[in-house]
Amino acid sequence: MLAGRMMDMPMMISSILEYAADARRDYEIVSRRTEGDVHRYTYADAARRTARLAHALRRLDIGYGDRVATMAWNGYRHFELYYAISGIGAVCHTLNPRLHPGQLAYVINHARDRLLFLDVTFLPLLAALGEHLPRDLRVIVLCDPGEMPEAAPPGALCYEERIGVEADTIDWPQFDERAASSLCYTSGTTGNPKGVLYSHRSTFLHTLGMLTLVPGTGLGDNAALLPVVPLFHANAWGLPYIAPLLGANLVFPGPRLDGKSVFDLMDAEKVRSAWGVPTVWLGMLAEMRRRGRKPDGFEYVLSGGSAVSRAMIEEFEREYSVSVIHGWGMTEMSPVGTTSSVQLRSEAGLEPDDRIERKTRQGRRMFTVEMRIVDETGSALAHDGVSFGELQVRGHGVVDGYHSDEEASAQAMSSDGWLRTGDVARIDQDGTLTLVDRTKDVIKSGGEWISSIDLENAALGHPAIAECAVIAMPHPKWDERPFLIARLEEGRSATLEDIHAFLSDKVARWWLPDDVAFVDELPHTATGKLSKLDLRQQFADHVLPTARSD
Ligand code: ADP
Repeated sequence: MLAGRMMDMPMMISSILEYAADARRDYEIVSRRTEGDVHRYTYADAARRTARLAHALRRLDIGYGDRVATMAWNGYRHFELYYAISGIGAVCHTLNPRLHPGQLAYVINHARDRLLFLDVTFLPLLAALGEHLPRDLRVIVLCDPGEMPEAAPPGALCYEERIGVEADTIDWPQFDERAASSLCYTSGTTGNPKGVLYSHRSTFLHTLGMLTLVPGTGLGDNAALLPVVPLFHANAWGLPYIAPLLGANLVFPGPRLDGKSVFDLMDAEKVRSAWGVPTVWLGMLAEMRRRGRKPDGFEYVLSGGSAVSRAMIEEFEREYSVSVIHGWGMTEMSPVGTTSSVQLRSEAGLEPDDRIERKTRQGRRMFTVEMRIVDETGSALAHDGVSFGELQVRGHGVVDGYHSDEEASAQAMSSDGWLRTGDVARIDQDGTLTLVDRTKDVIKSGGEWISSIDLENAALGHPAIAECAVIAMPHPKWDERPFLIARLEEGRSATLEDIHAFLSDKVARWWLPDDVAFVDELPHTATGKLSKLDLRQQFADHVLPTARSD
């Protein structure tokens, strides 16, 4: 090999913030704090405080490879933690406070966290974890000097007091780019949560890969971006890394994620592009309907984490001229995989209906991600828009296994090193991904597959249905049949018959659900998705009318 004559500089996360502090210095991070007020400062200010925090961490004896946990809402201090912890070579372990306390205790111990930074709102949760926490875990409360709450555990330190005494400049260390930078556990539906351990290299390249999303997603040109997706979930979908590079204001909503609070903040800050899970957008749409308008400046909504219904896309686009981008990804992928922005030249002249249909699909891959679909024997299937099978991925930001969990790692990877996503999908000739279902959620009726996602999306178009899930129920003749569980709009009613009538021209006859149950509330997972596991348990004794022998 003839080696190139180029500098061999490691890809460091700290260089992203350094760049922003220099070349994007007047763009702002705006945060609604847990205290209720709105805090704002520039990337240059953020870099100075991050330097202080890095020194404070070192003073607490944190060094290479040490795990430092955060339990915090989206705000400027959490942003500082992201950069300072990784920047000194330690590992930023974001804890999801919505996990079951038993799972939280598991991940803190499994990760061997040495320090925990937390928002005051989580002090009761910390107390509940009590003796399950490692004895030597030190706690730092994200609060102002002299504001340490009474509920703080003995020996807890105050964030602002610690960083206040430190210098506000730093020479960030340069080290192996393959070193771990951050850690996020993903809650499997069975077994313990699994740790996804990102590296500086993977984060750096994932961020550069995200630049290929800029056209058509409202990211560029002085945008203000709002991650409603929490910083404790999968790198908040990459926004804390890409926004400083682009020179975009980053607007953090703090603890209040209801439609009204998010609307007010977006309105005041002229947020152009907001990112979150469909459940959040349900609340936002309800608020927009109530006020008869959208927040000022709102042009793009990126919805990911679970499938977006056609009804939601139509309402955003037709009623409010907000362009919906459907995003698909996984914690294991850093997390972005695909987005559904309509960008190809061949798509320029699409009819409005066809544009909307395209957006119900998960879209095309971003740079650094490769995808394939395989059949049960592991053989690759054609990308013809018809064949479907298990979706597998590989790329610079994709895991090659889980942190200290050999069994889960072996299950997750194919024999030739691709990640098995657990999703069933089709891929078109133009590279567009359409998710058919999760492998475990697909309904196997008489040897054929029914996509629970497609059925849910079709049912969501029914005017009385606010939210719904379809799960498989056992059936003596067909093996499994679909069962619809729905939450109705307030004051509306529906019956199985009129849902059938509504669905009859939208899905095949044999897809029509055999039964429906109406509930006041549908269960959600810690990441805001419908929890089909809980529904399966809740309805474990339910017998479909079509399955009764009498
Ligand atoms: P968790 O592991 O906590 O559920 P992840 O975000 O890692 O959180 O979940 C990844 C899975 O979520 C994907 O494998 C897929 O099944 C589902 N998912 C993510 N985005 C979409 C989407 N746009 N449409 C349908 N399913 C999605």
